[in-house]
Amino acid sequence: MRFVDAHTHMELFAFKEIDLEDVRGIEDLLRKLEGFGGDSLALWGWDERKIGVFLEKKHIDHLDFPLLLIRVDGHVGVVNSKAIEVLGIEEGEKFDPERGLLFEDRLWEAANRLKPKGERLANCIRKGLLKARDMGVVEIHDYVDEEVARIYLSEDDLPVSVVLMPYYETYRDVLKNFEEKEKVRIGWVKVYVDGSIGARTAYLKEPYADREDWRGVLLKTWEEIAGIITELEGQGLRVSLHAIGDGAIEECLRAFEEVGPRLRYHRIEHAELITEDQALRARRMNLLLCTQPNFNPYFMDTYVKALGEERARRVNPLRMLDSVGVDMVFGSDMMPFDPTFGFRYAEKVLSRSKAEYYYFGWREEGRYLEI
Ligand SMILES: [Zn+2]
Repeated sequence: MRFVDAHTHMELFAFKEIDLEDVRGIEDLLRKLEGFGGDSLALWGWDERKIGVFLEKKHIDHLDFPLLLIRVDGHVGVVNSKAIEVLGIEEGEKFDPERGLLFEDRLWEAANRLKPKGERLANCIRKGLLKARDMGVVEIHDYVDEEVARIYLSEDDLPVSVVLMPYYETYRDVLKNFEEKEKVRIGWVKVYVDGSIGARTAYLKEPYADREDWRGVLLKTWEEIAGIITELEGQGLRVSLHAIGDGAIEECLRAFEEVGPRLRYHRIEHAELITEDQALRARRMNLLLCTQPNFNPYFMDTYVKALGEERARRVNPLRMLDSVGVDMVFGSDMMPFDPTFGFRYAEKVLSRSKAEYYYFGWREEGRYLEI
């Protein structure tokens, strides 16, 4: 079987020097961390369901090297006192000093400062690309900063094709260094509109089930999104909007409706709580949704806790999206990084041929690619 994984973060392989996906329980985790011999460490992929507790600073504070552990959703992470000291993390928004929790951009700021650089980073990414190829992936749409983009551009023989998805904050730097290559193309420019359901930062229309009056975090208003769409279209570029909650999706749709996009196939990533009405509006504006069929089998108990049974049943509504006929592609978001995991679910709720289409068939038809 062949796959396009239309939503990857290969740089996360930089945070897999110890693979947290294999960790079973807090004792196992601490044993592995205590055995680490280096100067500093940032790891990605812990999951409280496997560890048994939601990690806090107190669990890792006895370790005397700077340590950051990023939760599997990439929207929250925990640091120890040594990391707080070395990185000079100051109190303020998106940092809970008591529990040592960092959120969203402040989390990734710290992660970027602690992650391996240069050849060590290139090696981590090569390892990831080979893993992708071995799973049948022929193309990835990978979120990149300037450094990761440069790694792809300087590789002679990439094992898979790469569509570069630059972050809005640094897309100009990525474009500046870009030169046409057989296996590397420029794709969509990423903008975060909200966070995740697990971290309770996805922006909802109604409050979370387990947090009274809390609807999550809106990172960009529709006015700001509209400005970005106009700016990107002026350069022939399309946007990739990370929007998970129905409130965030609403903000995106309002922006598109105000702007009236000239280009087809601007993307919304995840669209987890999209309603049927919103899907119809997305279809009218020729938007492309990148959804994660792996999320429901992977995160359903988190959804039930955060949203309650009724709303949880409506998360990632693949069947509805398929029947509405909105343009859609599948990507793993690397939770887990294994397209067969999502494929099995998509095959079950849609059909085998539809699962194949959203994972690869569209690419074979050459859809969504022209800019
Ligand atoms: Zn992602």
